[in-house]
Amino acid sequence: MTTVGILGGGQLARMLALSGAPLGLRFLVMDTSEDACAGQFAPLLVGDYRDAAALARFAAQVDVATFDFENVPADSARQLATRIPVFPNPDALALSQDRLAEKTLFRELGIPVPPFADIASRAQLDAAVADIGTPCILKTRRLGYDGKGQFRIRSLADVDAAWEALGAQAGSVGLILEGFVAFDREISVVAVRGRDGGFRTWPLTGNWHVDGVLSASLAPASVAPEIADTAVAHARAIAERLDYVGVFALELFCRDGQLLANEMAPRVHNSGHWTIEGAETSQFENHLRAVLGLPLGDTGARGVACMLNWIGTLPDATPVLDTPGGHWHDYGKSPRAGRKVGHATLRADAPETLAERLQAVGDALGRESQVAPVLQRLSGYEQPDAP
Ligand code: AMP
Repeated sequence: MTTVGILGGGQLARMLALSGAPLGLRFLVMDTSEDACAGQFAPLLVGDYRDAAALARFAAQVDVATFDFENVPADSARQLATRIPVFPNPDALALSQDRLAEKTLFRELGIPVPPFADIASRAQLDAAVADIGTPCILKTRRLGYDGKGQFRIRSLADVDAAWEALGAQAGSVGLILEGFVAFDREISVVAVRGRDGGFRTWPLTGNWHVDGVLSASLAPASVAPEIADTAVAHARAIAERLDYVGVFALELFCRDGQLLANEMAPRVHNSGHWTIEGAETSQFENHLRAVLGLPLGDTGARGVACMLNWIGTLPDATPVLDTPGGHWHDYGKSPRAGRKVGHATLRADAPETLAERLQAVGDALGRESQVAPVLQRLSGYEQPDAP
């Protein structure tokens, strides 16, 4: 009997545990909160990730450890790695916790990135804004997610407010200024690398964000084959450089046919949730296969899929459950503004059918604004070749 330990007990750990059941796996989830929603499906150890005794208790009960949450302190991951195998490795985790280190690595690997600068003081911010130009975005280097810890500087008049909002964090989590990319679209590559170095990607995903939070994903994204090849080559270069094991997502901006890397997430990713029903093997199952050294599963798409995120509260499930190819995911969390509480995936064999289903669900739930960009993209859809 193999027990997989997961640091972080949110919806990602929950979906990992659900996907591991057919593989005969057991799980132990560690989280700082006793309400962690993965605890509804797997034993939960409540503890602080910095508590050496709690980490030792966790390590004693599991065969391998992984993460549902990238902000587990890298030192805790290193401590754990002295006792049990930890995937992805703590150095890869540490690098992807820091936007500056991440972008520096991307640039070293020849992956285009928006202009960026390390910001340690107000004077540096002024100089970097003058250099990079407006609009630009001030972000925390660490601990930011889903658009949190970010301030958009539209013009020079916003610099005071940006420093007011984030300047105090320059000495703790650090700050980075990035040029604003007027992208045509956002895409992500969800990739998996096994313990033997085997590497696979799912077909690219097209993503739409609202206020910095993922709202909808469409897969396979219809992108030109050379763009898809480049995106996959970037993901492979990163995985190989970091000796990465497991699933990760590389978020990319696409502008005038050119790709610019935004960030990588060292874990299963929201833009890969469609793979549960829309791919031969889901990102969750393949992550488990990877960290356990099992053969990786086929990442091919089964038709076309659209994922809609439910933020704050869950809408009525009936229209989705009532739709052929409709799948409902309730994370078992209490409602809270800005919180990801569930998602739905609509799947179909053909883009036209998916568009009809999406339109029907959007109308029934009053989600026109959420589905409109996906429908627009679907209307010009050409089935891409899976990379
Ligand atoms: P992040 O937390 O970096 O993934 O940012 C969340 C979202 O904010 C991204 O998915 C984009 O929609 C937007 N965003 C972040 N950085 C930039 C940028 N440099 N240029 C344009 N949009 C951005």
